[in-house]
Formats: sequence, C-alpha cells, structure tokens
Amino acid sequence: MKWTRTAIGYPYIGDNREWKRCLEAFWKGDVTEDVFLQQLKDIRLGRLKRQMDLGLDYLSIGDFTMYDRMLDTAVMFGMIPSRYAAESRESDLSVYYAMARGAKGAVACEMTKWFNTNYHYIVPEYEGQKLSVTKNILLQWFKEARDELGIVTKPTMIGPYTFIKLAKGFENREAFAAEIIPLYRQVMAELSEEGAVWIQLEEPALVLTLSEEEVAFVKSVYAQLIVEKPACHIMLQTYFEGLSAYDELVNLPVEGIGLDFVSGYQQNIASLKQFGFPAEKVLAIGIIDGRNIWRANLAEKAELLNSILDQSKAGDVWVQPSSSLQHVPISTALEQKMSDDIKRLLAFADEKITEINQLVLSFNDIGLPLGGNGRTTQKASSERAVTPDDFKRPAPFPVRQEIQARKLNLPVFPTTTIGSFPQSKEVKETRKAWRNKEITDETYAAFIERETERWIRIQEDLGLDVLVHGEFERTDMVEYFGEKLAGFALSEKAWVVSYGSRCVKPPIIHGDVSWLEPMTLKETAAAQVMTEKPVKGMLTGPVTILNWSFVRDDISREEVAYQLGLALRREIECLEQAGIAIIQVDEPALREGLPLRKADWEKYLRWAIRSFRLATSGVQNETQIHTHMCYCDFHDFVKPIEALDVDVISIETSRSHGEFIHSLQKTPYEKGIGLGVYDIHSPRIPSEEEMLEIMQDSLEVLEPRQFWVNPDCGLKTRKEEETVASLRHMVHAAKQLRSYMKMRQF
Ligand code: GLN
Ligand code: ZN
Repeated sequence: MKWTRTAIGYPYIGDNREWKRCLEAFWKGDVTEDVFLQQLKDIRLGRLKRQMDLGLDYLSIGDFTMYDRMLDTAVMFGMIPSRYAAESRESDLSVYYAMARGAKGAVACEMTKWFNTNYHYIVPEYEGQKLSVTKNILLQWFKEARDELGIVTKPTMIGPYTFIKLAKGFENREAFAAEIIPLYRQVMAELSEEGAVWIQLEEPALVLTLSEEEVAFVKSVYAQLIVEKPACHIMLQTYFEGLSAYDELVNLPVEGIGLDFVSGYQQNIASLKQFGFPAEKVLAIGIIDGRNIWRANLAEKAELLNSILDQSKAGDVWVQPSSSLQHVPISTALEQKMSDDIKRLLAFADEKITEINQLVLSFNDIGLPLGGNGRTTQKASSERAVTPDDFKRPAPFPVRQEIQARKLNLPVFPTTTIGSFPQSKEVKETRKAWRNKEITDETYAAFIERETERWIRIQEDLGLDVLVHGEFERTDMVEYFGEKLAGFALSEKAWVVSYGSRCVKPPIIHGDVSWLEPMTLKETAAAQVMTEKPVKGMLTGPVTILNWSFVRDDISREEVAYQLGLALRREIECLEQAGIAIIQVDEPALREGLPLRKADWEKYLRWAIRSFRLATSGVQNETQIHTHMCYCDFHDFVKPIEALDVDVISIETSRSHGEFIHSLQKTPYEKGIGLGVYDIHSPRIPSEEEMLEIMQDSLEVLEPRQFWVNPDCGLKTRKEEETVASLRHMVHAAKQLRSYMKMRQF
C-alpha cells in the first residue's frame, strides 16, 4: 500500500496578504501588467516551496487564483458575457477584472456564498455563446512548477458537475453540459500530454441532497467526460459533507475518490461500512479538519484512520485535510502577541500539514508517538441557569406595539438607517493613530464623540425619525465585540479570504463567553444626550458573532450561542436602563449559517432563534427591539423571522425584492418591517421617485402601520456626499407617501 501526503488546496493570500496588495496595486494602476504577473508567479512558487518543506509529497496547482476560481473556470472556457465587449478589446486581464468588479457601463457578475463557508465566488453566466478553451491556465502553472521547481504537480479544478450546478443563464442543462464537457476533456488532455499524472476535480456539489434525476445527470456528465480513458487519472474530490448517493457515485469511471471524514464523517463511514470501497480506486482521506483552527487529537485521528483503512480495504491512499486550507489562516508562527496558552491549541494551514505528516509517519513506524490536542476540556459554565421565561418577551407583539407607539410617538412610515455612517479617511486614520498609541484614549474618544455629534446634526437636518450614533468606534461588527467579551482571542495575522481580494480576520472563541463591562453604552448614551429624537442602540447578534468567528469545538455551537445570547442580554439591559428606547440586534449571518442539507435546517434554526431570543427577551414591553438582515436570499424565510419575535426588522431586498414580497404574500407578516429602499453598494444616488415606487410595491403586501423606511444596509463604505444626498431623497419619498395616505383617507 502506498501513502501519499497531499492537500486539496492551500491559502493563496500570503503571510502578509501580499497577494491582496499586488491585486489592489495593479487595479490602481501602480504597477504594470508585467510586474504584476511576475509578483503573482513569485507568490505561486513560494507557496509550493513552503508546502514541500512542510513534508507534502504531492502538491496542487490550480488552487491559486487571480481573483476567484469559479471565475477562472468560466474565463478559461470563454464564458464572458457580452456586456464586457469593450474590455475584451483591451486585454484579457481587463475583461477578467471587469467581470469580477464591474467596469464602466458593465456591472460585475453576481457573487454568492461558496457552500456553507464564508467565502463568496463569482457566479458564471452563460449567454448561449459558442465556448472554447481560450487559455489553459492550469497548463501554464503546471509547466511553471515543473520548470522552476522540478516537480510534477496535481492540477486541480472545479469539477464539471459543480460548475454546471452553480452557473446560470442556460435553459437546457443537458445542452449546456454538452458544450462544457468537451472543454474539460481538452484541458485535461493537454495537461496529461504535458505529463500530469493525476487531475483533481473538485465536486463539493456532490454532497448536497441529490434526487434520482440529479444522480443520473452526474453519471451522464462523467460518462461524457471520460469517453476514452485519458492518460492521466482523475481524483473526484468531495468535501464539506458526506458523498451523497455513495453506492452509485463511488463507481463513477474515475481512478480516485476523495471523501471528507470530518464534516462528512458519519455519513462517509456508514457508506464505507455498507458498500465498501472499489478495490481498484485510490481513496483520498480528508482526516484533518480543513475548516477549523484547532489542533487535532492525533491519537484519535490515527484510530479513525485505522478504522477507515479496515472498512475500505483501500489499496493506495492519500491522506489530506478535509477541504481546501484556504478557509483557515496560514501559520500560527506569524502570531507574535498571542499568549502561548492559546497558541498551543491552534493549528492553521501549515500546522495542519504538519499534522498530516506526523500522522502518516506514525503509520510508517518512523514517527514519534502521537499526542492529544493540548486541550483539557472544560465543561461549559454558563453564567447562570436559564428558564423558559428567559426566551419570551413579557407581552405578545400586539400589546407591545401599542405601548411602544404611545411611548415613541413616531409618524407613519418612520425613517431610519441601519447603523453605520461613512468611515471617512479621517476616521480610519485617527483610529490607526490611536491603535499605534500616537494619540491618547481621551483624544480618540473626543474625536469619536465629535464625529457622532456631527452626524446627529446631519440626521436631524435630514429629518430622519430614528437616529443612530454612526458606529465610528467600530472597525468590524464582530471584532468589536470580540475585543470586549470574555472567551475571545484576537489574532494579528490570521486572515482568510472572504471574496476577491477582501480578507477577514475572524475572532477566535476559545473559552466560555461572558459579559465583562458595557461595550456600547458610552457611545450610545452620549449620542442620545445630543438629541430629542430616539437614538437606536446597535449590537451584533449572537448567531452572527458565532458564524463569523472561529469557534471552539470542545462544546457544541449551540452552547456557545447561548453563552453569547446571555452576554448580549446583559448589554441590552444596560442600554435599556440608560433610557435607550430602541435597540437593534443585527443578524446578517443568521440565514447564511443554515446547514448544507435541508434536513439539518430545523435543528440549527431552533437553537439560533433561541439564542437570539435569549439576548433580546429581557427587556420591558415598551422597549422596541429591532433586527437587521441582508445579502441572502430571504424567500421562504418569513417563518424564522417571525419566530425571532422582534418588533421591527429591516431587511435588504435589493437583490430579491420581488421574491421576498411574494413570500410575504404567502406567509403574512404582522410586525414592523422596513424593506430596504435602496442598494448601498453603489455610489449611485437613487431618485425620490424610484424609492417611492419600491415603497408602493411593498405596500401591496404590508399594512402602512407596520412599514418602516430605510436603506438596505449600513452606510460605512459610502462617501458622505452620496449618503446625505440619498438619504435626503429617501426622507422626501417617505413624506410624499405620508401625504398620499392622508389624501386617500379623507
Ligand atoms: N449595523 C451594521 C452597519 O450598519 C450592520 C452591518 C451589516 O448588516 N452587515 O454597518
Ligand atoms: Zn446589512
């Protein structure tokens, strides 16, 4: 039996986010194309060398990208929408980046979440044009690795089924498949001619629930792909869950099958037990978690590996992380300020490769004895025991609604914003100076207060009804709370890519979460003193904090969510006691945290909603609780929203306005709701008329008394002039609507 240590993919952003800097400098025009391409080549080769040094036997190419790998695949096949024709005359790179980021007169391609990760890919668009392999970029990278490093690498690409599944714009899927598959064949044939031995086709879509018809389609895709045996082997790589329809798909005409024995552990083990594994195929065993950041218990992993080998009777095996490592940071060695107590619990990409190495060496009798994961599991200790009443507001919504209406005395169609106002250059620079200890805490706080006051005056001047303090003190809506709650650790360099060149640095929840001291009280109370109008308190909800952090795995996510809920409940109590009458608890990540399979949704929603309610149910009836959600497909999501029992929700609908309205028709909603009236992602200033039209549409399904007027999301990325102009139109539109209403009544 032969063992191969390999990885599905490795991060490409660089230890110091060099990749991001190269891309952004090139976009700004600071470097020439030649220099840019040379810089990327250095990054590509550097990361291959690093993986070799760490002990992998077989390295991937094609896990690198110049923006996004789905986009790479589309462009490689010439799937370029006609609206980029002007860029096509310029250069290949300008088309590529126009598709990613938009160009004059041509909006960018849609972007959406990559399965259940926090990565977002570009959705390929087909317009029926003739496709062909415009440039086999994998071939270029394959040769580069061979010529420069003398190694034969494993090209990896998004597999045909997943590509077809995620692409849009075609009417007939079979016909589209028939266009695409020959191109896959061509790319693979060229690679194989050049000396590639294995090609990895990534098919995460094979872990979704597959109908019989879908399984038949997968089979037909692979039957068309492999008409005659290519000279090289195919590794059909799955991840994020167990392989669906295992008994049928395991027999696809490929030479290797890659399975996830972390997220898909139970299902894949059960499948192996029941159906065995084809003797002639190579089994790629995803055994080290590619998604979390915790050290593995290698002694346990060795046992698991043994039982997989027993069950599968596999011949040759690959041992690898369970998914691409692009979802975790690069190396804990880059963390200089983190305490050793926490660091020793962590394994980022490099440490995970080392774990693979240790695991395989131990099987070959030359390894050291395997240890645990450094953790002495503590039983979660919640701050206090919760009772069923903790999840319930004292009175039902209709009663609260009346009490709140009397207290707040807002006009019909109240206007508000989602929380943040533009983070100007000055705001960012002042914060940086403060972090670098160039200015004192007092100077910084005074600056934040001045900026808040300036925006309170702007909001009053615009005539908004419910004001916000503007969130100038926050960089990121999760990190801000991570810095202030117990149980969190923050890293310096633990970045992961979120989309394109954008990276995020999720906080690390390593211990019991608890509230230590007020986190938002000072800024909110200060703003409330500045105005007669109500100022909304602003918090990030428990589920969003959880979903956008790296979470400890020694207790359940559910338990961590309740700890967060209780901690936020304390904060909400403080705000209420200080006289803040409206408190918004943002949950933009609640919908996107849904598990991959529908069968698992209910369980997740149950605890997610309970943790939100635990946070928000401690207030008096007269305190109005808001929430906010955005950038997800909310159709069919009215019931879960209802279950949150908030008094008001503001929700983004720029992408799916019509569909959400349709959902509201099917599932009536009685509480306060603001359907975003303009998209904050564009610098364009929407007119009064167009906002009015959107509002009138919404009034087809909503009662005037429940209707709020607000933008789609926070305004922190916009410029001040755009923000003020757009909001002025919005407030006017709301006023017009009020006068129409009056006319209709009398
Ligand atoms: N209150 C946050 C803001 O306005 C909400 C951000 C979000 O929904 N992602 O920035
Ligand atoms: Zn939002």
